[in-house]
Amino acid sequence: MDGKKLEYKGEDALRGLEYLTKNAGEVQRSILKEILTRNSRTEYLNKYMEEYSVDVPTYRRRVPVVTYAGVKPYIQRIANGEDSSILSGSPITEMLISSGTSAGEPKLMPSIAEDLHRRTYLYNLIMPIMNQYVPGLDQGKAMYLLFVKAEMPTPSGLPARPVLTSYYKSQHFKCRARDPFNDLTSPDKAILCTDSRQSMYCQLLAGLVHRHRVLRLGAVFASALLRAISFLEFNWSSFCDDIRTGQLSPSITDSGCRLAMAGVLASADPGLADEVEAICRRASWKGIICHMWPRAKYIEAVLTGTMAQYIPALEFYTAGRIPLVCVMYASSECYLGVNLDPLCDPADVAYTLLPNMAYFEFIPLEKGLQLPEEEAVPGDKLVDLVDVKVGCYYEIVVTTFAGLYRYRIGDILQVVGFHNSAPKFRFICRRNVVLSIDNDKTNEEDLHKSITAAKRLLKAHDYLLVEYTSYADTSTIPGHYVLFWELACISEEEVGTVAPLEEGLLEECCHVVEESLDYVYRRCRSFDKSVGPLEIRLLEEGAFDALMDLCISHGGSINQYKTPRCIESNAALELLNSKIVACFFSHREPAWSP
Ligand code: AMP
Repeated sequence: MDGKKLEYKGEDALRGLEYLTKNAGEVQRSILKEILTRNSRTEYLNKYMEEYSVDVPTYRRRVPVVTYAGVKPYIQRIANGEDSSILSGSPITEMLISSGTSAGEPKLMPSIAEDLHRRTYLYNLIMPIMNQYVPGLDQGKAMYLLFVKAEMPTPSGLPARPVLTSYYKSQHFKCRARDPFNDLTSPDKAILCTDSRQSMYCQLLAGLVHRHRVLRLGAVFASALLRAISFLEFNWSSFCDDIRTGQLSPSITDSGCRLAMAGVLASADPGLADEVEAICRRASWKGIICHMWPRAKYIEAVLTGTMAQYIPALEFYTAGRIPLVCVMYASSECYLGVNLDPLCDPADVAYTLLPNMAYFEFIPLEKGLQLPEEEAVPGDKLVDLVDVKVGCYYEIVVTTFAGLYRYRIGDILQVVGFHNSAPKFRFICRRNVVLSIDNDKTNEEDLHKSITAAKRLLKAHDYLLVEYTSYADTSTIPGHYVLFWELACISEEEVGTVAPLEEGLLEECCHVVEESLDYVYRRCRSFDKSVGPLEIRLLEEGAFDALMDLCISHGGSINQYKTPRCIESNAALELLNSKIVACFFSHREPAWSP
């Protein structure tokens, strides 16, 4: 598979994409005009602009750039039963629960019926893009593990749910036309089962039953795919029993799942069960994905941002034999962009923002700097989509049809080039500071970078960092950074175990992490002595699965779940502390010079 373009389907969609990206500036202007026209009588806009005004310069001069705090009172009023016209000219049909939180509570994003068309539009671009590079995707099945979450209504009765749940429950998904390019192994009823264990069980089982027909595998985020591999590891013998007997495990009690799986497990298949068992019994699970699904041409999942840490694990499970593909960038606020070079290295993934999704503006940032959420941003500082500069960093700001005006999603992007006149962005991180003890402020990217440095050391000793999170421990004086790590051994003999760890290895990792943290951290640690030695708490296997279960039990969504990079809740901290195998501290200070 080289980058050469192949004959493909979906030429119309690609022609449309060319039009949009060639005319990005014009499309953006007309999108903003359209949003203002439709929403010109909303209470929110009328605070800043006259009724019926669609004047773009006035909009940019008067309407403030806001974070969630600025729009929350309006959203809350609608959630409580006041009219949608507070924010939007169209009826708000649901509130989307973002994975971002505000003061510990999930953020709610307004959504209108036609947003589903915009999401469908973006989804419909993915196959035409992939077909340019990977032939024959209509000759088999796609094993995508997709999940919904039980929803809660707002006080006024609007559904409140994650954006993916909204999509999978919509007619756009449930009543989609049969398409050989999107023939899923998972029955819809298994996808729509709100019990995530039963859903996972049935979807994986269906994927195993169809193992010789699967041409690609995926999940929305890489973490979910890895969770599926771990689920397979724990449940393969039950899957084999089901396949051998043609009977679904009695642990699956959901009637929709049972009904759907009766069609999948139509007859006993001892031969297939033996195949699956033989693969699962291998001493090493290196390359297991390619053994289990031998016709798979690629893996698809979000692998950028915090998901980048899963790339080595996926490369292990594919033995690097098939590409890891990352195709889209989306959020609850609005869907954003696609990767037009899907077979590129995951580290080089860049997203072309689609100019018809929303009106985009950008807050220019100094490299590495982020504006704190509370900081007011002068509206005239913002740059239009077509005016961003290659190499520069920006925080993205959106104006949507559903009623977000100059809203800071919180994502930091870097421009890496253009497709026609539409910029391509590398996802840098979500605006945040994950750790801070004194003057030091460590964001997700810094933490990830420093851990990546330590991972190289681990790898040289045949260990893989399965998952990590962090915590600013201020119970010691001075306070110090704590990293919670779960490790797996990747030597052929010892797969999955953590012992024996070489003496001094994790202390050295503590040091490597500290050396890789930023100037201010090293100054605090080595000069000011206001930060104590960094600590690694090694956790037992499965600790992060337990953390995910905890977050989900507190209302998170399995699709959108991302391991928190910093632990803030006491329950999560207690859970991780109860799984400690051993603690290690940095033995020497990192280098620092003024
Ligand atoms: P949510 O609001 O829960 O839908 O989460 C949306 C957020 O997930 C985005 O604002 C990003 O921070 C992150 N995200 C979504 N897609 C990607 C991607 N392809 N790469 C990196 N981060 C992503």
